[in-house]
Amino acid sequence: ADILTELRRHIRTVPDWPVPGVQFRDITPLLAEPAAFKLMIDALAARYEAMRPELIAGLEARGFIIGAALAYRLGVGFMPIRKKGKLPHECIEESYLLEYGSATVEAHVDALRPGQRVVLVDDLIASGGTMGAGARLLQRLGAELLECAAVIDLPALRGSQQLREAGLPVFALLEYA
Ligand code: IMP
Repeated sequence: ADILTELRRHIRTVPDWPVPGVQFRDITPLLAEPAAFKLMIDALAARYEAMRPELIAGLEARGFIIGAALAYRLGVGFMPIRKKGKLPHECIEESYLLEYGSATVEAHVDALRPGQRVVLVDDLIASGGTMGAGARLLQRLGAELLECAAVIDLPALRGSQQLREAGLPVFALLEYA
């Protein structure tokens, strides 16, 4: 629990960004502090070591930072899930609704072997749209999706709840009201 307090101490809240009314939870101070960065990765590694993932999938862009460090720590591979149009090889895509419009994420068709044990990582779950689209991509590729993992969940937005109701296992280190 003290670990979580320490992590929380290094997360900055930026009011009214990117739009008025939003309290943006900013993990850049946490990443900049080596002891805190290590605590975060070690906390995730402690949870996932026992689940024996074979691959960590990270959502662009902050999921790359956390996911790559976690993969290195666990000694497994890393797979990027990117915004549409960024990956060079043949891709499959999944779209999700935003408040206005939609967004699309992509993965390479050969990014994993069917049945491979995968943990999906991002920094934060808000509406759950991004994590949900990433999870659907992994499932279409045949992954055994062990868990959707975030550093921060915003439970008031009910995104993590919707993901769980859709049958996805979801974990977050911290909740922000
Ligand atoms: P969702 O798709 O609505 O769940 O939004 C989550 C995505 O938006 C993640 O990829 C986050 O990185 C980003 N995001 C949304 N709100 C925040 C925030 O307050 N801090 C950091 N990232 C956020």
